[in-house]
Amino acid sequence: MSLPENSLVDSFGRQHNNLRISVTDRCNIRCFYCMPAENVQFMAKSKLLTFEEIARFVRLMVPQGVNKLRLTGGEPLVRKDLHKLVALLAEIDGITDIGITTNGILLADQAQALYDAGLRRLNVSLDALDPVKFQEITRREGYEQVLNGIEVAQKVGFSPIKINAVAIRGMTESEIVPFGKFARESGCDVRFIEYMPLDADAAWEREKVLFASEIIDVLSRELVPLVPVGDPDPRAPSTDYQFKDGAGRIGFIPSVSQPFCEQCNRFRLTADGRLRNCLFSLEESDIKTLLRESANDEQIVAAVRESIQQKWSGHNINAADFVQPDRPMYSIGG
Ligand code: SAM
Ligand code: SF4
Repeated sequence: MSLPENSLVDSFGRQHNNLRISVTDRCNIRCFYCMPAENVQFMAKSKLLTFEEIARFVRLMVPQGVNKLRLTGGEPLVRKDLHKLVALLAEIDGITDIGITTNGILLADQAQALYDAGLRRLNVSLDALDPVKFQEITRREGYEQVLNGIEVAQKVGFSPIKINAVAIRGMTESEIVPFGKFARESGCDVRFIEYMPLDADAAWEREKVLFASEIIDVLSRELVPLVPVGDPDPRAPSTDYQFKDGAGRIGFIPSVSQPFCEQCNRFRLTADGRLRNCLFSLEESDIKTLLRESANDEQIVAAVRESIQQKWSGHNINAADFVQPDRPMYSIGG
């Protein structure tokens, strides 16, 4: 791929074309690996970037090589009129791919409007097919709504829908085979994400990570052997497999056991307008102030380029001196 002259290349030669935008830190459930159980202090609404501010930022990033967007949160579907943001972003020339990651609880109501606005890629986070386990993990009700949301989204035309399941040792081993069967029968791809140290309670331990290699073994033994599939996007974090008989695809995001930082092409804009060059960054750049205090386009682009230049080589989760960021996942935007 030829790079635009101004592309966002960091000091390790990685080009950044993939922007993840958090639209809120609010959420309607409380996954234990992400949020505190109670008393969450959410950002004041006035601190959230408006849809117009987000769209202006994206318009500035396109000439820098950004063509892929993912909306996330918190729970993106709790942001009022999210489909209007999708429509604004979909009409920006040069944006070729817009996705959303959602917990699916409000999906049934919004799937059609999102599809009509131009959304095509949908990841639904669901860690358990057992409703009791779902409630244990999320600390809220909502299992039926998620399954219904997936069904409605399929009918609306989203395909493939990817199901994201965080893999947690001591908790979700029993979900591996049911998810394998789900991938074979439902038409959805399932992706297991290794549990990362981004929880609000800072209770993560390496011992609680259920590794991709173990899940591959279980699925291959209990169902049908998994075989790797060629990856159309080698810079995507997921390593994809399919069952040998052709029925069902399973992906893995092995952030802990096999970090993919060397190929990273992602950077993030938080709901309160901070730019993060890595999920695990300890520093942020204040884009909101630039957007609100009449900075010109060049100044905003310069701030982004500076941030990307400062990106480190990798996240260091596996090092003894790893420092967990102050912001938990729901506040960064996963
Ligand atoms: N609320 C939406 C959802 O859950 O899909 C979007 C935001 S959520 C922060 C984005 C993704 O991050 C979800 O798939 C979630 O499971 C994942 N996630 C959150 N905390 C995580 C952690 N500590 N380790 C691994 N994945 C995590
Ligand atoms: Fe909410 Fe998503 Fe975090 Fe779960 S992972 S608490 S759904 S933001």
